[in-house]
Amino acid sequence: MDSSRFNLFGLEDRTRKVFLKQETIGRNQAVKMVRTAFPKVSFSENKFISVKGDKSPFDGDIVYWSKRNSLLYDGVLATTLRKQNHSCGCCGLKFLPGEKVELHHIDNNHNNWKYKNLLAVHRSCHHYVHMSKS
Ligand SMILES: [Zn+2]
Ligand SMILES: [Zn+2]
Repeated sequence: MDSSRFNLFGLEDRTRKVFLKQETIGRNQAVKMVRTAFPKVSFSENKFISVKGDKSPFDGDIVYWSKRNSLLYDGVLATTLRKQNHSCGCCGLKFLPGEKVELHHIDNNHNNWKYKNLLAVHRSCHHYVHMSKS
């Protein structure tokens, strides 16, 4: 499981729309499944995930849905973003609304979720990091 899967769980509206398009099962079904999986997850946790705080009717559902697959990822990403002051760990620019954010594992060990091993970077920067390594 690498970034291609994680890409779907970015922070911004655009990502959510991509997510909606790419999800093969219907939204209603997804909501049902997620409700079953996380009956007690509060919508207020949106705040940690949505950087802009903009709302669409789908936000809660998508957050629910993404939590099912990336409960750990979302929490860690939010914390990492705060630590980095919402700037990219690669190019140093602030993340803008609509930009995709990914977590890079500095030691390339995707099981190492220690904060010092994690870097929140632009999706494009992330590709660059990996390309320049190989
Ligand atoms: Zn960047
Ligand atoms: Zn990486």
